[in-house]
Amino acid sequence: MLFKELAGLHVRAFKILRKQCPGQFESIFCNEVLSAIIPYVGIYLSAQILNELAGRRNPETVWRWVWITVLVTAVLALLKAAVQRWQKCREASFWSNLDKLYTDKMLQMDFCVLDEQKTHDMYSQIRQNDNWGGWGFSNLQNIFRQLVSSTVSIISAIVLTAGLFLQKVPEESPFAFLNNPVLILGLAAVLIVITLTAPRLANKVDDYFLACSDEIRWENRVFTFFSFMMPKRDRALDTRVYNQQDICQDYLQLDPSFDKIARYIAGPGGLYSALSGIISTSFTGFAYLYVCLKAWAGAFGVGSITQYVGSITALAKGVTDLFGTIGKLEQNTVFLKACFDFLDLPDPMYQGSLTTEKRSDRKYEVEFRNVSFRYPGAKTDSLHNLSLKFKIGSRLAVVGKNGSGKTTFIKLLCRLYDPTEGEILLNGIDIRKYRYDDYLKIFSVVFQDFQLLSLPLGQNVAAAKDYDPQRAKECLEMAGFGDRLEKMPDGLETCLYKDFSKDGVEVSGGEAQKIAIARALYKDAPFIILDEPTAALDPIAEAEIYSKFNEIITDKTAVYISHRLSSCKFCDEIAVFDGGKIVQFGNHQQLVEDTGGLYHQLWTAQAKYYTKKNAE
Ligand code: ADP
Repeated sequence: MLFKELAGLHVRAFKILRKQCPGQFESIFCNEVLSAIIPYVGIYLSAQILNELAGRRNPETVWRWVWITVLVTAVLALLKAAVQRWQKCREASFWSNLDKLYTDKMLQMDFCVLDEQKTHDMYSQIRQNDNWGGWGFSNLQNIFRQLVSSTVSIISAIVLTAGLFLQKVPEESPFAFLNNPVLILGLAAVLIVITLTAPRLANKVDDYFLACSDEIRWENRVFTFFSFMMPKRDRALDTRVYNQQDICQDYLQLDPSFDKIARYIAGPGGLYSALSGIISTSFTGFAYLYVCLKAWAGAFGVGSITQYVGSITALAKGVTDLFGTIGKLEQNTVFLKACFDFLDLPDPMYQGSLTTEKRSDRKYEVEFRNVSFRYPGAKTDSLHNLSLKFKIGSRLAVVGKNGSGKTTFIKLLCRLYDPTEGEILLNGIDIRKYRYDDYLKIFSVVFQDFQLLSLPLGQNVAAAKDYDPQRAKECLEMAGFGDRLEKMPDGLETCLYKDFSKDGVEVSGGEAQKIAIARALYKDAPFIILDEPTAALDPIAEAEIYSKFNEIITDKTAVYISHRLSSCKFCDEIAVFDGGKIVQFGNHQQLVEDTGGLYHQLWTAQAKYYTKKNAE
């Protein structure tokens, strides 16, 4: 890996995190500088006391040093406590700030990118790297911490160690050879060897993990999926009825790669760590010998022994840590690259700048012109050469077998995807040329797999914190939720579900669908799209909705996807989809009379269960 790339990625990540987590690095910096300096201040001050005690023994001087030591230590301890609190406070919000980085990306990316499996694989890989070894962005705070502490430690140690080499043994002493520059160079050489060897050995475990990371990636993903999935509430029924824990259990076993790494850490990995420790400790012994000999020979007082031994071993440790951190930086680069690959995922959809004119007459005319669409990576088109013009204010039903392309058609209409061929026009202009947020304002959609939030009912309906309670109530009544609303303990303020309120109400599937319809009505967009809007409703609720459909839809253009063909009767036009194409178009009467057509086939297949003969 090129140093330029390594530095570039880390500097970029650092800048992003500084913006995302304000004060985080500043607090780490202050804390580490203080933590690195405080021991040296202690070493220096105690050396002064010891030197005085071993030398002139002037009580006044000793007391003065004692007082200075006590005062300085107390002030530094107070300062450190305050800085530590600041850092802890910043640290507490670090993870949520980091999560927000990815959440924001997901919220902003084009839907077609979000919908791709590859995008989710990339994201789950980042989470795995983070969970496994804190790799990626989160490692940056450790790296920064170690870089600051080792650099400050090295600078302080150099300042305190200088005297060790500058204070010479008297020439007449038999230990005068200790002044020999060759010996000093030898000491420096040992220091360099240690600083290079010890961190290399210590990083070997991580290197091994990196080598195995491809193997682990898959196993970790499988393990994470099953371990998170099993206790999930919405899976509990299936899990119990089908004893799913039995087949999932196989995947929950620790897999060979995990064992392999665990064995490595206990075996050769442990040995490398021990060797790294032995080398560092031997250096301390070597330093003691050199310093004591110089003191013995009269180069400096006994009190300076602690100072020099402390500072020289701290110097070695500082340099070792610095090299170790540089090694980590190198290892982290590949993980950081994975983070940026995700954050830099391009949005391929063209973003236009036209605004959709706000028309009080709601005359928004949408047309599909020779539209074909193929999902990324798919081998066949899901929609093929489809042309259709929506009549303003009319009700269009879209029917067809499963997989015939109905939902895909809606996704294209809402510009969640762009056509592979052909174009979709709004008032004669390609929808790509409009601002997307503006374009989306003209649609209210109830998707089949709609989602409500664990928030008060009124906020769910309005999709906003501040809402018009009267309007929310009217929409709920129109959607057939009126009676249920009366029974809600806090009316519109009743929380849905119990995630955030113990008094929250668990609504049934049908009730949730009514709330979702009310939400679409509250938006009051010129187009209303309902994908199987009554699938979860009981027959009475369904009949109720249909009986007041005109009241609900008012002057909106409605698109309505349904499997229940009887419910298409009230629609002005029906488009019959098959294999991604519109194979029939007309009103209910015309289509039923076409006995050779698909609509007739679907109609009779469904109707026979309701005929008198079959009912008997
Ligand atoms: P319908 O709503 O009529 O049941 P869809 O529009 O959901 O049908 O699906 C049409 C076709 O597109 C099906 O063959 C389906 O397998 C395929 N399809 C749907 N979603 C995706 C996707 N995200 N990626 C690839 N193929 C998809």
